[in-house]
Amino acid sequence: MFENLTQKLDKAFKNLKGQGSITEINVASTVKEIRRALIDADVNYKVAKEVTDKIKNEAIGQDVLISVSPGQLLVKITSDELTALMGEKAVPLSTDGSPAIILISGLQGSGKTTFSGKLAQFIKKQGKDVLLTACDIYRPAAIDQLKVLGEQVGVDVYAEPENKNALEIANNALDYAKKNGKKVVIVDTAGRLAVDEQMMNEIEGLKKGLNPTETLFVVDSMTGQDAVNTAKTFNERLDFDGVVLTKLDGDTRGGAALSIRTVVDKPIKFISYGEKMDALDVFHPDRMSQRILG
Ligand code: GDP
Repeated sequence: MFENLTQKLDKAFKNLKGQGSITEINVASTVKEIRRALIDADVNYKVAKEVTDKIKNEAIGQDVLISVSPGQLLVKITSDELTALMGEKAVPLSTDGSPAIILISGLQGSGKTTFSGKLAQFIKKQGKDVLLTACDIYRPAAIDQLKVLGEQVGVDVYAEPENKNALEIANNALDYAKKNGKKVVIVDTAGRLAVDEQMMNEIEGLKKGLNPTETLFVVDSMTGQDAVNTAKTFNERLDFDGVVLTKLDGDTRGGAALSIRTVVDKPIKFISYGEKMDALDVFHPDRMSQRILG
């Protein structure tokens, strides 16, 4: 994950090797390299500038302890600042409610249906009875895909293939859930290849009509700054509660992971890194930061 970024940061810190102390000059050139590495990783320019300015200010004027070299100090400061950039602490998903409703939004192909299956398994493992609901009224294949995933993780799937009213399907699913003792209802919705008004109206209508416990926005991390821009657009309409970053197993550079929190001001809650149902983790900013720094 993010190998290129890790390598470039490592190279930047190596600049300080053999330097006895932190000086404005050696910090400035290292920080410049860190900034370049972040921008190459498709981190939003403003975010990259702000975070590297902070790293610089933190570093300059710090007395280096005998046991810590300037390089080690810069790594520590960078690690702390990247953690802060991604939100400091994990923000857990709330599944309280009777039942709790988790609304899944995002573009087509972002990984919504796959994530819905993974989340169902994740919640089931916490001992809560889950219901998956197929609300993609345009692609019958999406209903079949969810049914396959539901079977794989041992979770019921509610679908009405003939019904073209997503809110009605979701409300019927809620009735079904209440009658059958389900504690959490995950609603998988239709996406489009790009943002369009009809899709936005539909997902907005679902949010207003269902009043979900949580609305999650799923986005393909490989799309870098596009991911951040799409997140912004969805958030303006949906005011969602959290982000799910998918496809972190692919050739992704890190820009989305590092920029989304600051640009959209919503926490990343989960990361998805593969097609297998257990390739899902709760997002921890500090662990991600450590991973990036290698
Ligand atoms: P949806 O249209 O948003 O519901 O997206 P899907 O769940 O159908 O996912 C689109 C494609 O991406 C499918 O081929 C999935 O198997 C794949 N996919 C989803 N999540 C991941 C992931 O985390 N890693 C990888 N490598 N592929 C994924």
